This record gives sequence, C-alpha cells and structure tokens, in this order.
Amino acid sequence: VDETVQHDMEKLQETFPSFRNQFRLIKRIGEGTFSTVYKAEDLQYERFDNAWDWDKDAEKWASPPLKKIKQDTQTQKRRRAKYVAIKKIYVTSSPLRILNELELLHDLRSSPSVCPLITAFRSTDQVVAVLPYFRHQDFREYYRHMTVADMAIYLTSLFEALGAVHRANILHRDIKPTNFLYDPETGRGVLVDFGLAEREGSDSKPCLCHEADGVRKSRLRAAYVPSSAPHNGYPKQDTRPARRANRAGTRGFRAPEVLFKCTEQTTKIDIWSAGVILLTLLSRRFPFFNSADDVEAMIEIATIFGSRRMKVAGQLHGCMFETTIPTVGREGFSLEKIILWSNCRIDNGKTLKPLSEDEKVAVKFLTRCLDLDPSSRISADEALEHEFLRDMGR
Ligand code: ADP
Ligand code: MG
Repeated sequence: VDETVQHDMEKLQETFPSFRNQFRLIKRIGEGTFSTVYKAEDLQYERFDNAWDWDKDAEKWASPPLKKIKQDTQTQKRRRAKYVAIKKIYVTSSPLRILNELELLHDLRSSPSVCPLITAFRSTDQVVAVLPYFRHQDFREYYRHMTVADMAIYLTSLFEALGAVHRANILHRDIKPTNFLYDPETGRGVLVDFGLAEREGSDSKPCLCHEADGVRKSRLRAAYVPSSAPHNGYPKQDTRPARRANRAGTRGFRAPEVLFKCTEQTTKIDIWSAGVILLTLLSRRFPFFNSADDVEAMIEIATIFGSRRMKVAGQLHGCMFETTIPTVGREGFSLEKIILWSNCRIDNGKTLKPLSEDEKVAVKFLTRCLDLDPSSRISADEALEHEFLRDMGR
C-alpha cells in the first residue's frame, strides 16, 4: 500500500473514531469522479453468524407483521459479509446527491443484482457508505476473450439488474463497465454507483417524443415557419429558450435522446448504454466511442446510423440534425458491418469471415438495444425474453 493511500486510510479512521473497532481497512480499490472506495474487513461480522437464514424459511416470514423482523434479519445477514467496500464520498458532492444515492440503494435493497447498502456514516460533511465487497474482475482483462455465449451470460446478469432497477421506476443513468462489477468465473455481476440515478419523471418536462406522431409533426412545422427558415430549414435567429435537460452520465455511453436534450428521459437510456457495452464486446474495442463532448458523440453515432436516421431521431425531440461532415453518410452502416470491420474481418470490401449464427443472434439483439427511438427500443424485461439471452444466457 503506497504512502498517500496509507495516509488517506488513517485520515478516514480518524474522522470516524468507532471505525477501528468495526473495520480493518485493507486497500484502495477504486477512485472515481465522486468517491474513493476501499476494501475492508468487517471485524464484527462473526457476531451475526447465527443470524436467522430467512431464505430457508421464506414461507414463515411472509405474513405482514413479521415483515420488519424479516427486514432486520436480512440486514443482519448482509452484515455477515466478511469483506466490505467502503465508499468515501467526496465532500464536494452535494448533500442532496448523496442522500439521493443512499435512498435509492435503500429502495433497491431486495434486488439481488444491485449491490446492497449495509450502512452509512456521516461526520460533518464526510459521508461513507458500506457495501458488501463483491469479487469481480477488471473489464479490460476479459472483454477481448469472451465468446458469444459468455457475452449472453454477462448481459443476462446486467439486464436482470436493469429489470429490477427499472421495475422500481429508477433510471441508473451511468451504465458502463466500471459500474457493473462482474465475476466471469460465476457469470454473475452486481450494479453499483447510484450517484447519478433518479426516479423516472422526477425532473422531466413534456417532450415531443411522448406525443403522437401527428401532433409532433404539426408542432415541428409550426416551430419552423418558412420566413425564418429560408433554405435549410434552420431559423437564423433562434428565439426559443435554450433547452435544459439532464445530461449526467459518461461520455460514449449517452443515449441519443440525452444528446438531443430530451426533457422527458426514461429508463430506456440505460438500455442504450448496455447496448454500447455489447457493441464493445462484439467489436472487441474499448472504449468503442471516444468523443470529447456531446457534439462529437452525436457525430460518432451519426457515422454508424447515417444522417437520415439521425435526423428522424432528432425530430422526435424537436431537434434539427444537420451536418456537412464528409464521413457521415446518408445511410450509415449496418451494425454487422461495423463489427466485422472492427475485428478486421473485412479486407478491401471483401468479407473474410462472416458472422457466425451465434453472432447473428447477438447482432439482432444489439440492434434492438441501439434503437435511436427510445419508445421502440427494447425494455429490460423484453430483453430477458429475447432469444439471445433466453437461449444462450443461462
Ligand atoms: P464512483 O461514484 O466514484 O464511480 P463507484 O460506486 O462506481 O464510485 O465505485 C468505484 C469503484 O470501486 C468501482 O468501479 C469498483 O471498482 C469499486 N467498488 C465499488 N463498490 C464495490 C463493491 N461493493 N465491491 C467491490 N468493489 C467495489
Ligand atoms: Mg462509478
């Protein structure tokens, strides 16, 4: 353990005097934008060794008056994790944001694919969250070596987690490999990092994408009166108020509707991000998208899907999409072609090794995840019924 880490760990123990009796800090395991995460041993875990294993007697605990006890027993069971992850949230994070993260984790505590919250501490402006430590491997170590069946298993686990989160009407907003801790040996993963998550509809305003086709078209026509839009349909003096929309998330994983500043975003934004992970696995390129900002991100997406479909996607949210960039063609490319290219399986326009039957099923599924229109994009529950996950993922 290097010196600065040692120093930080000691500081943490000084902030919380009771810490030393409860946890033994082992090492730093993560350093993100919003927190530092340490692995620690829970020194009190054995105390709960005889706690009721309520899973065995689920029937018995089903009656409502016993619910509270059941919950407490569950908590105790979780405290039996010998190793924990201690997430020290940076003091620069807003208190509302921290509260939001802890609250959502608490709401999702009964989902096995979401890393549960064991407890949390606060000392003035410093908050730490304690989670069971989940053994996992770094994405970079395995993404290049996965078979299509391995990918189906990975995605089944990820979509089970998304299903649970979305059924609770929560958007994670930051789906990416470092927030899905996956153990290739067991084929299981858990979702972490609800720092950007939000309840569906909590900060939305009506967006055209939720209107019927006819309504949307007439509103679009009304917005672009010919006199102010001489040639290319773009008003010279745009007097509309600037649109504000939640754009939180990670570059390269943002859904098109996030880039188009949709004001009524849904859980489908997470499906797009999961699709980007699958695209990464199939193309064996990480990161697949590598944009510096939202405009570049839009161009990257447009290069694949073509300007025609991109334009239609923008109009869903009342946005114009125009580009003169020569690499953005009108029709774009099929995802099949992108994957063959990325794997150097096309040479001089000649396909050296076409997609296998398994890969074709995966690409069919990928097409459903990377649908530019959020309303027709596959949902997590539908995804679990898709042949790719249903037949190959278990
Ligand atoms: P941030 O908001 O800073 O991104 P995360 O919650 O994503 O924080 O955690 C950062 C990293 O810490 C993760 O990518 C992972 O490597 C590690 N980590 C977080 N929670 C756990 C856990 N429960 N078990 C093991 N490692 C974890
Ligand atoms: Mg993270």
